[in-house]
Amino acid sequence: MSESRSGNGTRILVTGAGGFIGHHLTAYLAGRGCWVRGVDIKPPEYEPTAAHEFEFLDLRRRADCLQATRNVDQVYNLAANMGGIGFIEANKAVVMHDNTLINMNMLEAVRLNGIKKYLYSSSACVYPGYLQKSAEVSPLRESDAYPADPEDGYGWEKLFTERQCRHYHEDYGLSTYVVRFHNIFGPLGTYDGGREKSPAAICRKVAQASNDGEIEIWGDGKQTRSYCYVSDCVDGIVRLMDSDYHQPLNLGQDRLVTIDDLVDVVSAIAGKRLRKRYDLTKPQGVRGRNADLTLMKKTLGWEPRVSLEEGLVKTYRWIARQLEQNGRLKQ
Ligand code: NAD
Repeated sequence: MSESRSGNGTRILVTGAGGFIGHHLTAYLAGRGCWVRGVDIKPPEYEPTAAHEFEFLDLRRRADCLQATRNVDQVYNLAANMGGIGFIEANKAVVMHDNTLINMNMLEAVRLNGIKKYLYSSSACVYPGYLQKSAEVSPLRESDAYPADPEDGYGWEKLFTERQCRHYHEDYGLSTYVVRFHNIFGPLGTYDGGREKSPAAICRKVAQASNDGEIEIWGDGKQTRSYCYVSDCVDGIVRLMDSDYHQPLNLGQDRLVTIDDLVDVVSAIAGKRLRKRYDLTKPQGVRGRNADLTLMKKTLGWEPRVSLEEGLVKTYRWIARQLEQNGRLKQ
């Protein structure tokens, strides 16, 4: 049974509302009749927010977290200093520094302001490297997170904060929720500048290549992942917040594909035949990663509905349109 469902009139704070998932979530909650305050250090880049109120605050600061969390019933904390593998590999110190401050100050502000429900966005990067050494990897279950050996920097901070959410639940009775995202993608996400992730980067590269041209791929293309479309992600986290389940839960897709497969799907959408050039000097992350969704399906009756192909059609078209509008497509 759910503790209390959000809906008409529920007052909600979404942090990271200027970012990819936070922006989509804000629109979804506002559409459901909730009152939403968005908070970020920057506005959404590609379209106006649907939030009823949007405040520019730096959540590394305790006072800003206290201000952000005033007079709300629920908090979705999606703010983080993050990016794709290239960014988190090259910025471990600042990523751990900023995200530890954001997450410790947010939890404490939520407690001090007497908020009932708090959702923390964790990541598949908490899973141990020793389980992800093969491309034919077994899907990762929530219990696989220990013994701990997470992604260096970013993943260690996520695991540490998951633990602190558990302690706030146990020690203070705060209703904390922890979701482990596995590669969320879709329109309105960063597609260039260094923080973009593989689906967006590949869509951009395919869009910019000539019809029979070449595409650069990080690694040998045989590394595997699973990808979840953003509308499924948003639906899943709202269901989680409406539940009384307080252990970490995977949210993603369980269809394993290689990076080569991903490039082939996007190239077919674009109607291009591209030669692949592999750059083995670039970071690739773990060799293989897939999500076991058994617990999420059983606990929340949730499962992803949008296929990789459907999601990539929407994402590719949006990125190609952005590039075209900015005069960055080959004529
Ligand atoms: P994003 O980078 O698009 O959004 C994060 C937002 O946080 C940005 O708009 C950023 O400006 C904001 N932010 C950073 N520092 C801040 C600060 N000091 N104060 C206020 N706001 C600040 O990322 P996203 O893809 O929307 O991810 C949302 C959450 O989900 C993050 O916690 C991320 O670690 C987690 N996550 C995402 C994925 C994914 O595939 N997108 C996978 C695993 C985990």
